[in-house]
Amino acid sequence: MEYYTTLAFVLKQEPVREHDRNYTFYTQKFGKINLLTPGARKINAKLPGHLEVPSLVEIQFTMSQNPRLVSALEKFSFPVIKKKKKPLLVSFLIVDLVDKLTIENQIEPEIWKLLYDSFYFLEENFDKFPEIADFLWLYFNAKFLEILGLFPFLEGCVECGKTINNRFFSFQKKGIVCPQHHQEQDWPINTQQKRILNLLFNSSLQQFLRRSQVNEVLKEKKYLKRFLDEFTLAIKSDIMSS
Ligand SMILES: [Zn+2]
Repeated sequence: MEYYTTLAFVLKQEPVREHDRNYTFYTQKFGKINLLTPGARKINAKLPGHLEVPSLVEIQFTMSQNPRLVSALEKFSFPVIKKKKKPLLVSFLIVDLVDKLTIENQIEPEIWKLLYDSFYFLEENFDKFPEIADFLWLYFNAKFLEILGLFPFLEGCVECGKTINNRFFSFQKKGIVCPQHHQEQDWPINTQQKRILNLLFNSSLQQFLRRSQVNEVLKEKKYLKRFLDEFTLAIKSDIMSS
């Protein structure tokens, strides 16, 4: 039988029947994959704690009729993230978003890199700067949507290109709108919110090693969180209807 090896992050695990368990991984070489671990109790005894969010593991599996997990070797456990509630919660939000908006066996190196960089960024910076957890969730959500090809159009009215008086955002049209193209369900958006959305969608993680940049984003934490929730929803309905 042929075996495959790759680095992976666990997205979720579910019990299947009485003794089996189904693991969903996001892998470096194969994208998202589902693997069955028959008699997971036995295997779990060999792998204490390895298959937890957000551990980085090297997995070995078979691709036969029913793809199965053969072994998992822990490469990094992210001890800082795991010992605190907040960064762990953010890690679960991240893996849940990836699980919900990706399909199996589609290789997307940018998603792998975003996951990898985000978890390490959180691990390395949380102790000296706890606000990074809130920031990282906003950043991950924005960048992930961008990788899926969806970002807010903020340069001018998304319908006519007009650049003044655009005080509303249309989730349906995915951009700001002028008074003429504004509809009732659109959200108000001010200059600061536009600027910070731009910063979030157009900056690399390295640019946020400066505390001032992170605090700049967190000025609009509430708005961004609601905005990204709504934007993610708009995208989910696009995926469903396509
Ligand atoms: Zn317009």
